[in-house]
Amino acid sequence: MDRRNLKYIGPHVSIAGGVENAPLNALKTGATGFGMFTKNQRQWVAKPLTEESIQKFTINMKEGGFTADAVLPHDSYLINLGHPEIEKLEKSRAAFLDEVQRVEQLGLKYLNFHPGSHLKTIEPKDCLDRIAESINITIDQTEQAVLLIENTAGQGSNMGSRFEEIARIIEGVKDQSRVAVCLDTCHLFAAGYDLRTEETRTKTWADFDRLIGFDFLKGMHLNDAKSTFESHLDRHHSLGQGNIGWEAFEQIAGDPRFNGIPLVLETIDEKLWPEEVSKLLAKV
Ligand SMILES: [Zn+2]
Ligand SMILES: [Zn+2]
Repeated sequence: MDRRNLKYIGPHVSIAGGVENAPLNALKTGATGFGMFTKNQRQWVAKPLTEESIQKFTINMKEGGFTADAVLPHDSYLINLGHPEIEKLEKSRAAFLDEVQRVEQLGLKYLNFHPGSHLKTIEPKDCLDRIAESINITIDQTEQAVLLIENTAGQGSNMGSRFEEIARIIEGVKDQSRVAVCLDTCHLFAAGYDLRTEETRTKTWADFDRLIGFDFLKGMHLNDAKSTFESHLDRHHSLGQGNIGWEAFEQIAGDPRFNGIPLVLETIDEKLWPEEVSKLLAKV
């Protein structure tokens, strides 16, 4: 067996010209998995996916040798599932429902989202409970997609930079088979979870396992950081060029706890993607 098949590694690719191009774009980088949007992430409303687009997507997934569990769709950055104002919360929930339905139409399995922000108008814990309620409402109206809460750098009033916060959201979800976590390494580092040495990584992963659990880990974003440790700034860098360093990514690639889930590069220089992907796959 090719050991490379154990790890689903690849970049977050473009959907320019249609979602069906995503698997082909990933294939060009030598990827075994990838990330994508299912619509323009800067717009609230998008045209529904056409039958033709969905069919082509399925064909191209086969062409690239990708299965649904190797793909991590990302939702729109506009959505705030913990919004303090009811009208805007409703707007976010409607947009999120559309995102989940698109994922299911494409035959995909996961949707990764940033938890939300309290905007300094409600208590952080109330915001977390609101996010859990948003997840429950969405799960009730959809079939099977698993919703991945992404850890954040904790910039501004963004929730989800602490494992405890993510654990509280999960606690509020009724059907826990449909909620999971996506860990972004740059966000971890900026939030104060160190990954620079073997010792600090051991501690970070142990903290994650104790407070949330590896069973809930269904995806990762592998990004080095331009941001400094505990800066709470979300600034990605190419692997090995930032403040985290290559060693952390090599460890993740070789660690079986990260097998079988999409490991997506949101690194800044797409010219380096084929090299980043092959260097990681060589360490599996
Ligand atoms: Zn990310
Ligand atoms: Zn980020």
